[in-house]
Amino acid sequence: MITDEIRHLARAYDVVISGGGPAGMAAAIGARSQGAEKILLIDREREAGGILWQCIHHGFGLHHFGEELTGPEYAQRYLEEVLENDIDVLTDTYVCDISPERQLKLMSGRHGIAVVDAKAVVLAMGARERTRGAIRIPGERPSGVLTAGLAQKFVNMMGYLPGRRVVILGSGDIGLIMARRLTLEGVEVKGVFEIMPHANGLNRNIVQCLHDYDIPLHLSTTVVDIHGRQRVEKVTVAPVDGALKPDLSRAWDIDCDTVLLSIGLIPENELSRKIDLRLDPVTSGPVVNSTMETSMNGVFACGNVVHIHDLVDFVSEESVLAGRNAGAYITGRRPPKDNIRLLPGDNVAYCVPHTLSSEREHIVYMRVRKPIEKCSVRFGEVLEKKLRYVFPAEMVNIKVKPQFLENFHGDALRVDVVQR
Ligand SMILES: Cc1cc2nc3c(=O)[nH]c(=O)nc-3n(C[C@H](O)[C@H](O)[C@H](O)COP(=O)(O)OP(=O)(O)OC[C@H]3O[C@@H](n4cnc5c(N)ncnc54)[C@H](O)[C@@H]3O)c2cc1C
Repeated sequence: MITDEIRHLARAYDVVISGGGPAGMAAAIGARSQGAEKILLIDREREAGGILWQCIHHGFGLHHFGEELTGPEYAQRYLEEVLENDIDVLTDTYVCDISPERQLKLMSGRHGIAVVDAKAVVLAMGARERTRGAIRIPGERPSGVLTAGLAQKFVNMMGYLPGRRVVILGSGDIGLIMARRLTLEGVEVKGVFEIMPHANGLNRNIVQCLHDYDIPLHLSTTVVDIHGRQRVEKVTVAPVDGALKPDLSRAWDIDCDTVLLSIGLIPENELSRKIDLRLDPVTSGPVVNSTMETSMNGVFACGNVVHIHDLVDFVSEESVLAGRNAGAYITGRRPPKDNIRLLPGDNVAYCVPHTLSSEREHIVYMRVRKPIEKCSVRFGEVLEKKLRYVFPAEMVNIKVKPQFLENFHGDALRVDVVQR
């Protein structure tokens, strides 16, 4: 059973987690495993589980559970574990602020404004979708332009079809999944249009959601105009050159009543900004050390709020670590401090965590800027890992063992992904 109300709103907790998606749930379980006793998981939605409830397609849990689950199945397994571990779950509640003393200000219909004290806090607020305004698509402002995730919520949770003839802008995973979902619902999906020369979703989604349903993917092409006064009537699309500038002389019109946007996610960091956490301009998430602690003492972060993940399994893995370290923080069993900074080099957009300790094993997550086949990930001179290919849409994760780091004597280790 999922509690929609806390048994008693206690004033003091060992660990409080802001955001009850897969990141928050895994962090709660991680904190319990390290001896934290009073743990509170807070979510602004009616139920914990985050984005997973609307992802009714399969493809979750392959790495973590070794079987293919749907989003709700994955969420349910974690929620059961959360409840078995006697972790308090407070839903329909928004975390508005956190003080430097780690006092959280909460707002909910049931409790009004409430304040709870935490010895450690984990930020797990996830991400939200980029909208039309973020990329300034020219044209009129009719209804029928919405993000792919919102369309997913309409179709999968509310039984409402957003339109009958759909154009999808952007080849992110949500757009690809919605191309298939809407086709199965009898909607005509006219095509997916991607401004970059490569797709932005996982390869398995390109194959299973577009190729298998004969939905065309137009690379190096974008929407340059949206027409319609009340409702979308058509869009104009045009190919772009190497500098991503549209060639309007080769533009063409497509009749449609709906435009879905799948143009990326932005970590939900209003709270992090409010409390002045140090943010990484590339990920838009907090800078974290190898224990997933942010620049504020005792405040940890994990999941999409730190950097956008394509697979929920990696969210869970990273978040258990954040939770364990939050638990270790309050019980005074903190690991030795980090002594190595990671510097993203050739073809590396970012690395998370931002620092490492030469005394422990780490998993370093990174994203590349451009695709390369037959390549090597190099950590300075100390570690080289050969990969068959890298692709911006697929996060790279590399295990770094302490025996490699022992051979490094500087303080900044450069990470490059280069052709072999
Ligand atoms: C449409 C879609 C399809 C996907 N498909 C797959 C797939 O097939 N396979 C796969 O492995 N992964 C998939 N993913 C990725 C995976 O679901 C995400 O990586 C994962 O959900 C991120 O977890 P999270 O907990 O960081 O964020 P979320 O799931 O977004 O959870 C964050 C939670 O925090 C809450 N919150 C935010 N701010 C506050 C606040 N101030 N106070 C209280 N609560 C707050 C939100 O309400 C939300 O419940 C998909 C993602 C999306 C969006």
